[in-house]
Amino acid sequence: MFNFSDAHCHIYEPQSETSGIAHRIINAVTESDWENLIKIQSDSVFVCLGIHPWHINTARKSWDKNLYNILKQNPKIMIGETGLDASKPNIGPQEEFFIRHLEIAHNLKRAIHIHCVKAWDRLLHILKNNRENLPPAILIHGFSGTPEIIHELATKYNVYFSYSAPQTNPNITRHRNRILATPRTKILLESDANTIQTATTKLTTACENIAKILGISPNEVISITNTNFQKVISQ
Ligand SMILES: [Zn+2]
Repeated sequence: MFNFSDAHCHIYEPQSETSGIAHRIINAVTESDWENLIKIQSDSVFVCLGIHPWHINTARKSWDKNLYNILKQNPKIMIGETGLDASKPNIGPQEEFFIRHLEIAHNLKRAIHIHCVKAWDRLLHILKNNRENLPPAILIHGFSGTPEIIHELATKYNVYFSYSAPQTNPNITRHRNRILATPRTKILLESDANTIQTATTKLTTACENIAKILGISPNEVISITNTNFQKVISQ
């Protein structure tokens, strides 16, 4: 039986003993997820609350005040999912939401969990502008950037890089180079799944692919990513 730590998923069901997933981080997508997620947090289930960049149009006016108040009462809850997606037309409003999430994460000293698609320049610009006011840890999920972007992020900020199966194909040079460029102290595994069953399959594939690329055993990948996971949740 595996012992994965799933750094990013949307499984809104309680923990299962037999899944092979020892720990997981669940990200909210809209404000309507928050109440349910607060209830399922436990010693092995960690929760992020936020509004996904695809769903900012569902946010109520007071979403940020509400988020701040919930986080103040729940010291283990982190912020996510938030971020920038330039494949969608509303990148301007997305930036406003993302910056507000960043401010709350900084104020309350919580890790932030980011979705970034085709918006690396904007992300780097925002991080640079807020350099003195960043959260204690930044996790970028489903990381799809280049080795150059990894270098920039890893040397300047406390960024973790989380990978799911589609970003880890050992037969694709771009994927191999990305995994090889990621510091081992910052690499994470994720399923990005909605159900426990698909999560286990996806984590197994990502783990085996990364092991192949790094030339280490799947158990070593599990051990490295479990250590990094513990760092993220205890920032
Ligand atoms: Zn997600």
